[in-house]
Amino acid sequence: MKKGFLGITLIIVAALILFGTYVYLYKIKGNDQEIIPDGKDITKEEYIYKEDLLVLGYNVNEINTIESKISDSDVKKYLLSEKYNNLIELLKSPYFKIEHIDRYESYYSKNKDYSFEDIVIYVEIGLDIEFYTNITEITNYDDYDAVVNKYYKLPDNFEAKDLVSIDSKYKKSSYNYRLRKVAAEALYKMIDAALEDNIKLWVVSAYRTESTQKSLFNNSKNSDGLEHALLYSAKPGHSEHQLGLAVDLNMASSKAHFENTKEYAWLKANSYKYGFIERYPKGKEFITGYGFEPWHYRYLGIDLATDVYTDGGTYEEYLVKHSK
Ligand SMILES: [Zn+2]
Repeated sequence: MKKGFLGITLIIVAALILFGTYVYLYKIKGNDQEIIPDGKDITKEEYIYKEDLLVLGYNVNEINTIESKISDSDVKKYLLSEKYNNLIELLKSPYFKIEHIDRYESYYSKNKDYSFEDIVIYVEIGLDIEFYTNITEITNYDDYDAVVNKYYKLPDNFEAKDLVSIDSKYKKSSYNYRLRKVAAEALYKMIDAALEDNIKLWVVSAYRTESTQKSLFNNSKNSDGLEHALLYSAKPGHSEHQLGLAVDLNMASSKAHFENTKEYAWLKANSYKYGFIERYPKGKEFITGYGFEPWHYRYLGIDLATDVYTDGGTYEEYLVKHSK
């Protein structure tokens, strides 16, 4: 009797195992048919990650979207440990990078009023990381499109090349203002064109050496405090003036309210035609890291300046949207 009982038990157990395997395989196959309607051959490993996405809580449509936009190896690398609540919305951005999914979600949790497209752009700029941290030293400092900001700096002791002195016709003081030759020539054309429209422009700051920038920053800190200095002055190595491609015009002080002048209106409408952009515009302070500086213009060359102007945002936003 005992032996017979054991035999029956074994048969029942074996049958249960077989049935369980059948149900399990059927379930995976069934899900697979839903997810991949074209019935192409896929490996067992792929079955498993789609199962994992289902278990994490993504629905079939979401899994199809993920599959169409992210490679299998990236799904396995980045998406199988937790569910990302805004993944599907974030994926709509053409600038989305899967390796930054954690940063997007974290930045969104602190900035829920931003659109998902802006979340992606801002994280790609690096805005989820505090200014003056995570700094990269640039190597393309001789290029007219080089970026220096609160994340990108010039090498120590950098000096701009092919600097020329600004002609006295374009300044009011006897100070020897300098710019890189190409920027100076573009500036002359701009100031001459403005004058034809009865707009008077003149240089009040141009190229700065690292040590000049250092004393400017320290002076600003000592007279107006660190917060003001950080907002209106760059730390040495981080200033576009040190590139020799930036110029301040007429009145470089927020107290002077240059933004209310016809000179500023003219620059806003025309500077790109000569290769200059308004670099620190109003409303974009959180992106550029600088207060509104209606007097500060950055030379980029006519083509690039026109593209940035047409794009309508800051140079930082433009670079995310147009990086190759
Ligand atoms: Zn400036």
